[in-house]
Amino acid sequence: MILFGPPGSGKGTQARLLKARMNIPHISTGDMLRYHIAQGDALGQEVKAIMQAGVLVPDHLVDRLVEHRLDQPDAQDGFLLDGYPRTIPQAGAMIRLFQERGIAPLVIHLKVDYNRIINRLSGRRVCPGCGTLYSLGSNPPKIEGICDNDGARLVAREDDSEPVIRRRLEEYDLQTKPLIEYFQRNGIPYYEMDGSSGTPESIAKRICGLAELKLEPIRGR
Ligand code: ADP
Repeated sequence: MILFGPPGSGKGTQARLLKARMNIPHISTGDMLRYHIAQGDALGQEVKAIMQAGVLVPDHLVDRLVEHRLDQPDAQDGFLLDGYPRTIPQAGAMIRLFQERGIAPLVIHLKVDYNRIINRLSGRRVCPGCGTLYSLGSNPPKIEGICDNDGARLVAREDDSEPVIRRRLEEYDLQTKPLIEYFQRNGIPYYEMDGSSGTPESIAKRICGLAELKLEPIRGR
């Protein structure tokens, strides 16, 4: 399942909820890239400034990360793809990867308006230990600044400042939004969901309902 939508539409939050419900791994290109930055390895050094500026990392780098990740044993019975594909060439690479492996995709587009996104992302905090996401407005931690799960001190992502959020939204409009038509042209099942009404749990439930409906016939083949 491909979770699609602008930054701040809830892809990461939904992936974390759905991963537990569906028992499949969450594959996030953003998380993988941030891991390499934290490691300080060659890839991390190459992408650090690009990500801080809120622009997209070159296609061949993310394509390679995703290809490698799809071949891990835990991804053989399905996976949640979050943050990929983000450009037309990435979508082409993804279709080829899926065809070679007999993977049938389903795209869920989480729709949220941009004013709400700017509010959400400027109030977003993340646990550097376990990755749990919080929102100062709608989903604050029980103790200010501290993760409910493991007590770690929460941080704001470096690219969650307003000018960088606006740059990420521009990148989305220019490079990623055209994928909607591309998915439809290439016969990839595509569904839109309101990503702003209801709690994260209720949105996850709606996605699960849809996925069961759409995935069962594919599994039964
Ligand atoms: P968000 O969806 O909130 O922007 P992500 O963690 O998915 O957050 O992405 C953060 C940054 O990582 C992006 O702004 C971009 O620089 C880089 N990135 C992540 N996925 C991709 C991708 N598929 N292609 C190019 N760059 C990517």
